[in-house]
Amino acid sequence: MKEIKTETLIIGAGPAGLSCAMELSKADKDFIVVEKDSMPGGLSKTYVFKEDDGSVFYTDNGPHRFFSKNKNLYDFIENLISEDWIKVKRQTRQYIDGVFYDYPVNAFQALRNIGFLGSIKMGADYFFAKIKYGLFKRPINTFQDYAYANFGKSLADFNIVNYTEKIWGIPSDQIHPDWAIQRIKGLNLLSVFMGAFRKILSIKNDGPKSLVEEFFYPSKGTGLIYETIVKKIESKGYTVYFETEPVKIDFLKNGEILVWLKNKKGEELKIICTNLVESIPITNFVKLIEPKPETEIIEAVSKLRHRNQVYLFVTLNKESITGDQWIYFPSKETSIARVSEMRNFSKFMSPEGKTSLFVEFFCFEGDSVWNSSKEELLEEVLRVMGGVFFDKKDIRETYVIRQKNVYPVYDMNYLTYLDKVKNYLNEYKNLFYIGRPGRFRYNNQDHSLEMGMLTAKSIIDSKKYDIESVGQEKEYYEEGKLFSKK
Ligand SMILES: Cc1cc2nc3c(=O)[nH]c(=O)nc-3n(C[C@H](O)[C@H](O)[C@H](O)COP(=O)(O)OP(=O)(O)OC[C@H]3O[C@@H](n4cnc5c(N)ncnc54)[C@H](O)[C@@H]3O)c2cc1C
Repeated sequence: MKEIKTETLIIGAGPAGLSCAMELSKADKDFIVVEKDSMPGGLSKTYVFKEDDGSVFYTDNGPHRFFSKNKNLYDFIENLISEDWIKVKRQTRQYIDGVFYDYPVNAFQALRNIGFLGSIKMGADYFFAKIKYGLFKRPINTFQDYAYANFGKSLADFNIVNYTEKIWGIPSDQIHPDWAIQRIKGLNLLSVFMGAFRKILSIKNDGPKSLVEEFFYPSKGTGLIYETIVKKIESKGYTVYFETEPVKIDFLKNGEILVWLKNKKGEELKIICTNLVESIPITNFVKLIEPKPETEIIEAVSKLRHRNQVYLFVTLNKESITGDQWIYFPSKETSIARVSEMRNFSKFMSPEGKTSLFVEFFCFEGDSVWNSSKEELLEEVLRVMGGVFFDKKDIRETYVIRQKNVYPVYDMNYLTYLDKVKNYLNEYKNLFYIGRPGRFRYNNQDHSLEMGMLTAKSIIDSKKYDIESVGQEKEYYEEGKLFSKK
């Protein structure tokens, strides 16, 4: 078996693994990257579909808007893709019972559509929530508590709870309030009203836009960032092994780490390294370690669950469908969760005169949605969207993508198990487990990029910085400012 020595092995060529690689390459550090897939980007990859008449359609793995409060990340990306980093005016809505609503929710619009009695009920619910959670100090134990305390039951159910339950596939009173920290921390009925007032006033206001209003996007899909990193590091002589994954990882007492890799063709390779950076699902990673962890750790890791997704990508002979980048479908009446029109991110995502829709469904592996055929998914799309968004005759092609380990499930016990697993992994001093899958953390590209960069800095400075602290903002960070180009 071929053996290679390297200082650092990076497993996973998603945002976390590749930002680490990019920073190590700038410091001329020795490393190798391995990636199971045939392309880089992980959940932030961009697929390319070439059709028989030569039309080329691009789509991300779901809508990928870049936003961060960290200006260094904007500079990092701009240095990679320069003029391909374009500014996009955001429009996103929700589609509920045949009516479109703004997203984030516009309080006045919601009240108008809900009517007088509905509005009174919303106000009363909010008032009762303030008494229950504020005056009588009922504790916030679950996501549902958090949503009801901040919005009142009616508005929370209408705007947040339904969709949240669709994402996770469990009732909101079984979801840990940590989910609210990433998603809606700092938002409440008052801030929703203030947002609506600001929207009215901003007609006359030319001030800086917030992240809610505009965002940056790579002109040919978010995957462009990661494809560019791979090109850059390969041009400096570094290797990225695609379609390759680890089968066994041995932490030796002398500090060296042996990693056995296998590629799609069955060829094997042994890597001997001093640092291991892993950004693959923690649930898979722990099971590769030798000597095997104690039963308690194996049991803990097996209690951590992921939510999967199935996507239907539909290419269409229509110039445009909506002005939205994406539309949420919170109602439980359909299994459709969100639909993105990729050409509203960038006109380069589909050929002229044509468009596409990327439809997301949430599921657990093996359930009825996961097992749905392309025809069944299309049937549901046509049932809910047909006639309103497009007609069947407009369809060119449909493609199904099944994605595992997409969302770490924040159920009520996840932290107990995760802490056990992390304490065990923390014993390995030259191991860096990072990124969304590596840390079992619901986070966006920005925090994965930051984790990768901080890991590279740890290796360069020979000092372990605190990865856990990345992305622990305690506010709704979409309210931050959009950084302008240099
Ligand atoms: C539908 C959807 C919408 C999103 N929208 C946004 C958005 O608007 N804005 C935003 O910033 N972020 C968004 N995200 C989140 C973003 O995709 C992730 O935060 C980001 O990709 C995480 O990067 P990562 O490197 O931590 O993990 P990943 O992207 O998951 O990368 C991990 C990599 O490891 C590889 N891997 C896995 N197992 C193995 C193995 N055994 N061996 C070798 N390699 C392996 C994977 O193939 C992958 O390439 C969205 C995600 C989804 C699913």
